[in-house]
Amino acid sequence: MNLIDTSVRDRAVQATVELCKIPSPTGFTRQAERYVFDALVALGYKPEYTVKRSVRVCLGGQGRPLVLAAHVDTLGAMVRSIKPSGSLRVAKLGGFPENYIEGENCTIHTRAGKTFSGRFLLDKPAVHVNKNVGTTARDDTNIEVVIDEPVSKADEVKALGIGAGDFVSFDPRTTLTDSGYIKSRHLDDKASAGILLALAGWLKDTKRELQRSVWLLFTNYEEVGHGGSAGLPDGVEEILSVDMGAIGEDLGTDDRSVSICAKDSSGPYDLELTDSLVAIAKEAGLRYALDVYPFYGSDADTSLRAGYDIRHGLIGPGVQASHGYERTHRDAIQATLELLARYIVKA
Ligand SMILES: [Zn+2]
Repeated sequence: MNLIDTSVRDRAVQATVELCKIPSPTGFTRQAERYVFDALVALGYKPEYTVKRSVRVCLGGQGRPLVLAAHVDTLGAMVRSIKPSGSLRVAKLGGFPENYIEGENCTIHTRAGKTFSGRFLLDKPAVHVNKNVGTTARDDTNIEVVIDEPVSKADEVKALGIGAGDFVSFDPRTTLTDSGYIKSRHLDDKASAGILLALAGWLKDTKRELQRSVWLLFTNYEEVGHGGSAGLPDGVEEILSVDMGAIGEDLGTDDRSVSICAKDSSGPYDLELTDSLVAIAKEAGLRYALDVYPFYGSDADTSLRAGYDIRHGLIGPGVQASHGYERTHRDAIQATLELLARYIVKA
């Protein structure tokens, strides 16, 4: 019998959609942190902000603290300079190729709190004028932000209050299909943040007893490599990163599965923890895969590097076209919830 029914899954999907729509490039995550904090308070929990503004909450239970970690920061950009033409040169926040943002709408968030819309374009984007549009190698010098304001000189852009250090968020284009797919930017890792919120709600509703002390940690600097480096509770024994499952031609995960990671760029995940997750997935009849992610790092890796003496693991819903316009399915969200629930509650 499944522990998680479709209503819990649908709450996770709902939270995922709402989170995806909140701009939160790494370093500019206050609104997403508040969303998570307020959602936990509404469920009757007592979350707290760590010094670096991760959101941490104890779900209950006694002994052997386990942390389930998801990150609310996403890819994005920062204004580096204003070009003489009035377009913006940006520095990337997180890793992605330029063609993953070309043509995308975006929002510029000035440090004074104003917002302006724009879009990412090649500097000579018209095929009727530039015959090399298809063959030009994209980089940060020729992919630029064209601001949706009548500006054609750097001074006019400065007069709007836009300048170096402003954050740029990408239009997530979040869409739900009748067939259960969620298409959006930033499902990495907002799908998992939504999953953890739904898990917290399910625990409140069912009053299930926990096997151990279980904490949620919503980190805010994962995409730049130090999300899980601080803020774990005292005595922590395990961290399970709940982050997107990678999909590729020689990997078993798809966007309807929960993915269990055996190894990423930092090496193998903890043997016993990973094996017990696989055993649970098997016994529950979940759609899952145990996979090796060739280019990947997680908050669990970061915690180990920071010096925590812990066991570490990684699971998450399969996400197609990661760091681009991504896709997952409600089945992957349900399978991830089911695996988490079975791992933390008493039988
Ligand atoms: Zn991620």
